[in-house]
Amino acid sequence: MDREKVIKAVENLLEALGEDLNREGLKETPRRVADAYAELLSGEGKSAEEHLKRTFTAKSGGVVLEKDIWFSSTCEHHLMPFFGKIAIAYVPDGRVVGLSKLARTVEVFAKRLQLQERLTAQIAEEIMRYLKPQGVLVVCEAEHTCMTCRGIKKAGSATVTVYSAGEFPEPLREEVMRLL
Ligand code: ZN
Repeated sequence: MDREKVIKAVENLLEALGEDLNREGLKETPRRVADAYAELLSGEGKSAEEHLKRTFTAKSGGVVLEKDIWFSSTCEHHLMPFFGKIAIAYVPDGRVVGLSKLARTVEVFAKRLQLQERLTAQIAEEIMRYLKPQGVLVVCEAEHTCMTCRGIKKAGSATVTVYSAGEFPEPLREEVMRLL
């Protein structure tokens, strides 16, 4: 990210919106917005390899479910936040990963310009790539501020996306869905 360019762009945006850049409340705004974007897009170009490469031996069979992983991301259509929770379930094939690493994996893909569908798929594919489980299932439930603060203004409406990869045996899949 070119910080100086972002600052300039925010100044231009404020001017285009008819604002006075010298107004007290706006003086530091371009710099603050640039810093906010640096954090919100900090996952750009990263992979979750560093979080998923250390695995531990575990008995196969059964399922690991980590749910209610809170996240916030930025919708690439409107540059507005969407946020909610993600559940990750996988059927280990002899290897598991530390539970906090799943949340870190979510962060890598949430902190960039995103679409909820792609976020859900990327998390699942990255877990397949590094953890090589029998199967993985990711469920994401999110509120999009581009829908709740503008447009149809349906406060509290949620969008749910589901993505699975590999082999996820039907009884375990049902069990997971029941727990969510
Ligand atoms: Zn949007």
